[in-house]
Amino acid sequence: MNPSRRTMLKIGGLSLAMIPIVALAAKNDGMRTSMKYKDTPEGDKSCANCVQFVPGSGALGGCKIFPGDTEISPKGYCVAYAKKP
Ligand code: SF4
Repeated sequence: MNPSRRTMLKIGGLSLAMIPIVALAAKNDGMRTSMKYKDTPEGDKSCANCVQFVPGSGALGGCKIFPGDTEISPKGYCVAYAKKP
């Protein structure tokens, strides 16, 4: 194997290794803006007790109406808030 091919394989492997990191950390800025999302609760209203919240494996989660966003805080809030029954 010549050095340039080896280098290309290393870069390719590195790129593949970074995909899960990029895929796991994403914000849907368009929805955040239009729904006035913020990382703090509104009184006792927070994502943690909203029907749309999808808990993640870590501290942050997702929201059913924010496609692709994986950084929704359980302590967050937006105008689409709907209390869990
Ligand atoms: S709809 Fe709004 S308040 Fe409810 S989980 Fe999604 S971002 Fe949080």
